[in-house]
Amino acid sequence: MTAAPLRLRRDPQALVANWRSLARLSGRAACGAAIKADGYGLGAAWVATTLAAAGCRDFFVATWAEAAALAPLKLPGLSVLHGVRGEDMATALTGIATPVLNTAAQAARWKAAGGGTCDVMLDTGMNRLGLGAGDLTAGALDGLNIDTLMSHLASADDDSPKNSDQRGRFVAMAEGVTAQRLSLANSAGIALGADYAFDLTRPGLALYGGVPRPELADTIRQVAFPQAQVLQRRHVSAGETVGYNATWTAPADTDVAILNIGYADGYWRGFSGRGQALHEREALPVLGRVSMDLTAVDVTGRQVAEGDWLDIDYDLPRASAASGMSQYELLTGLGDRFERLP
Ligand SMILES: *Cc1c(COP(=O)(O)O)cnc(C)c1O
Repeated sequence: MTAAPLRLRRDPQALVANWRSLARLSGRAACGAAIKADGYGLGAAWVATTLAAAGCRDFFVATWAEAAALAPLKLPGLSVLHGVRGEDMATALTGIATPVLNTAAQAARWKAAGGGTCDVMLDTGMNRLGLGAGDLTAGALDGLNIDTLMSHLASADDDSPKNSDQRGRFVAMAEGVTAQRLSLANSAGIALGADYAFDLTRPGLALYGGVPRPELADTIRQVAFPQAQVLQRRHVSAGETVGYNATWTAPADTDVAILNIGYADGYWRGFSGRGQALHEREALPVLGRVSMDLTAVDVTGRQVAEGDWLDIDYDLPRASAASGMSQYELLTGLGDRFERLP
């Protein structure tokens, strides 16, 4: 196999520590894990195996294709957030995961097929997926065997009245439904406090090092560490320019390392002139535009040679502020040219 020029170092201890912290903040509620989009770009199988060994029992993916890929792991609990389309029924009825029913039609389809235990998503004001109060009154859930009844917060990362409003609607709607467990909070929702935890929390972002609310800043550790190899080290004389459209002009003689990473790897153009690599904890600023596969950084005065590996600064709150991309996009955008370690 050809050695990849890009590595994604993943820290399993940090992943487990983040899950434990979120479980502690969830109080008496169980703490699950959203592992959709291939575990937010880190590898769903790796995340699930690592967290299941730490005691996590409830996992969430978006689609049945994602569930099928994880089926060999025989996870203790796996739910499919997008529910069951007609096209999903054959796979869903094999029992590899539990559907989260989102619409009256999905509920009817599941009932008609005698599908067994399911989860249900209620819409409490996000107006994304989920059944509404009218569906409940119309009896859409009658006769279903519901494990987890859930809803999703639209603004948990803001101090918005929408949070308590959604919580209130959730409690009111849940009163008329029989279910084993209630679940409302994502990562940011956990930080809103015990009132939001109910029986099960569903963090994603914060497991992977994202910090959606300042309350979590001191608790959450970085999990994903992209590393890129130096393809060339060059000297750029004062007045010369670097990269596409010559957006950076050397104010003085500068040594530049060209790294094997670019926007096709999820190192977005927003990092142009704003991102940084790290060498012995010192920042090496990105110079000029990020290209599709290459990025230039300033290595003046540093012992950095062709073939060396450099960490890309991927502290998510900082990288998000630098690039203008959300912490979610920074994780899920990590492309498939990375060799994942471990
Ligand atoms: C993605 C998702 C989560 C996890 O959200 P984070 O903000 O990443 O913690 C929880 N619940 C549902 C329904 C989701 O779609």
